[in-house]
Amino acid sequence: MCIFCKVAKKEIPAKIVLEDDDLVAFHDINPVAPIHVLVIPKQHITGIGDVSAEHALVLGKLLVAARRVAEDAGLLQSGFRVVINHGQHAGQTVHHVHVHVLGGRLLAWPPG
Ligand code: C5P
Repeated sequence: MCIFCKVAKKEIPAKIVLEDDDLVAFHDINPVAPIHVLVIPKQHITGIGDVSAEHALVLGKLLVAARRVAEDAGLLQSGFRVVINHGQHAGQTVHHVHVHVLGGRLLAWPPG
């Protein structure tokens, strides 16, 4: 089973900040910003490059949850970034789709 499926099933520990029937949001174990939370679907989806119309509802829920995470972290006014990496060139290391919510500092653009 993939590592984020294990997080979703509470088989490995994570600092969960939000959960519902469809998704879990938890603090990244290796944060790259003062706020760095990952939002994942409970359903295993390998990456954003693997989705189709049937995934539209859950993907929308991930983004609404990302906004909620940002609000709860006090980032709505200062700003935040949501990132979904897919594949080698984007540096995807966990092959279970996840939305990074990053904030709490000035974020450079374009990303490296
Ligand atoms: O988008 P990418 O696949 O590179 O991001 C995976 C993220 O998952 C990393 O930021 C890594 O720190 C995080 N991670 C985690 N808990 C794990 C394994 C990876 O928060 N058990």
